[in-house]
Amino acid sequence: MPDIIKLLPDSVANQIAAGEVIQRPASVVKELVENAVDAGCNKIQVIIKDAGKTLIQVIDNGCGMSETDARMSFERHATSKISRADQLFSILTKGFRGEALASIAAIAHVELKTKQTDKETGSRIVIEGSETKLQESVHCEEGTSFSIKNLFYNVPARRNFLKSDAVEFKHIIEEFERVALTHPEIAFTLQHNGVVLYNLPTSNLKQRIVNYQGNNFNLKLVPVEEDTNVVSLQGFVTKPEYAKRLRGEQYFFVNKRYIKSPYLNYAVSNAFDQLIAPGSYASYFLYLSVDPATIDINIHPTKTEIKFRDEKSIYAILHAAVKRALGKHNITPSIDFGEAGVYIEPINSRTEIKQPVIDINHGYNPFNNQDSKSSQATITSERPSFGKNLNYDWQELYKITEPTNIPQKSIFEIEEVSKESFEKTEILHTNAYQLHRKYILTQIKSGMVLIDQQLAHERILFEEFLEKIKLKKITSQQQLFPENIELELVNFQVYQAIENELKAVGFDIDIFGKKSIVVNGLPPEIANQNPKLLLDDIFEQYNSKAGNFKLKSNEILANTIAKYGAIKKGKYLSQEEMNHLVDSLFACQQPYFSPSGKPTIVTFTLDELEKKFEK
Ligand code: ADP
Ligand code: MG
Repeated sequence: MPDIIKLLPDSVANQIAAGEVIQRPASVVKELVENAVDAGCNKIQVIIKDAGKTLIQVIDNGCGMSETDARMSFERHATSKISRADQLFSILTKGFRGEALASIAAIAHVELKTKQTDKETGSRIVIEGSETKLQESVHCEEGTSFSIKNLFYNVPARRNFLKSDAVEFKHIIEEFERVALTHPEIAFTLQHNGVVLYNLPTSNLKQRIVNYQGNNFNLKLVPVEEDTNVVSLQGFVTKPEYAKRLRGEQYFFVNKRYIKSPYLNYAVSNAFDQLIAPGSYASYFLYLSVDPATIDINIHPTKTEIKFRDEKSIYAILHAAVKRALGKHNITPSIDFGEAGVYIEPINSRTEIKQPVIDINHGYNPFNNQDSKSSQATITSERPSFGKNLNYDWQELYKITEPTNIPQKSIFEIEEVSKESFEKTEILHTNAYQLHRKYILTQIKSGMVLIDQQLAHERILFEEFLEKIKLKKITSQQQLFPENIELELVNFQVYQAIENELKAVGFDIDIFGKKSIVVNGLPPEIANQNPKLLLDDIFEQYNSKAGNFKLKSNEILANTIAKYGAIKKGKYLSQEEMNHLVDSLFACQQPYFSPSGKPTIVTFTLDELEKKFEK
């Protein structure tokens, strides 16, 4: 038997390798653009015809190649980026495998023009199917230009597998953006069939993202920054109100490489928990820098997965950083109440919220020059405990302090003096409307919002209550008539199991007999509720949440208290009550959802409204 094993000719080996590296026109774009970045340029032009099926040209103004390097660059495993195995663990360039150009040259018609910065002439090489057709000296621009024509001309199976131009071009855009979004220091253009689609000048990172995404985008971004010894993090997330129905712009870059990571994506989306509706997605552009030795970079060239050594810490850092960024950057929208031009500044969730001090002249009537002194009041209030007060006359909410001294003057003089206080009064008489005793309609800068009064109040009570627990300000309101309740044995056992948790949030209960309890007092927010119904509900929650109840007892009880204590649908609200409700809602950390996850606010933008009136 003769020996039958032979080495494959380079052209065949390259073609096989190409099958892995170059799957579609977009792969060529990726490899060429990455090479251009590695060449240290500050300008890259990408010119495409017919989604890359006819032409892919990438022109850079980087370092260029010598005559010999130009020829060498098409050899397999030929690279200038590493020379020793240990360098694999400290790679900072995009490429390092030395496979891309060899692969591309095996399956297309390639023309390379390149000139080094300090040289008079450059080189031109033409290669078709791994075969060098021509090499000559030419006059050309500094830098490098690759033209790839007739991709897969000799691999019909591949060529026939290509999708429509629209699909293939979408892939090209994806590869283009992944590089463009990480290198704002490089100017990029992308041209397709003679039309310039992107023209991105050099800029800072934020500006690059905005230029790429289109104008208004800077308004949507919240910066995220964190520097630790495991990872340093930089980038932006979009504000929750710009969450989209489709998973859109979600980008992670690690050491300037685009990666996909469902795990890290979870860290980010978790940070948006309750801020955006289920089923919608925030966009993000997050750039992580880690020590190259702590990631497995030796991954498949076309894959975007990555392995971190310390994945858990990165998860935690990312999650915390995004959460903090959202808290810090006032994710609540600014509300204006229409003509009065009153504008509630977005409230930083970390700052303490205080009711503004407002001078009101309740009794002022420009046509009546009577002594109005007695009705002058200065209204001051700390953030009022809303649940309780809504059940009372609104006026009681405010502490009426010493009357201010408004001098008694003639009607004309008073008009002048009072003008200012009159304007301020309008803060409490702005245009919020109650619809069907269920919703509050109010104007915001970009349109209008409808607020569900009950759900909104649940959110407010929920956060207030948790805050009270945190500050150890829990009180109990004594019942006028302590109620004796005989429990079923199972519930009595449940009661014993959660007695401490209940007491911690303001339930004042004693055990009385074998399975009876006496309710002496309740949290003030729900003091007027039927204690038996309330406790039955809590016992039921304990049974359904079992193991989790104790862990999350504060949240669960705060939620119950919010549910019972909140104003209900059908309750009439005065103008002040509405304003206060809106005000308090937007002072919440997570105003957009009730504690049980229902939306509290529905926004109608002017754009949406205008569209509704178009034919
Ligand atoms: P890799 O990028 O993994 O090194 P490639 O096959 O993509 O492998 O490129 C081979 C070599 O050709 C590179 O290492 C680099 O030295 C050179 N090269 C490729 N493209 C350019 C370019 N645009 N400018 C300068 N040199 C380039
Ligand atoms: Mg390369």
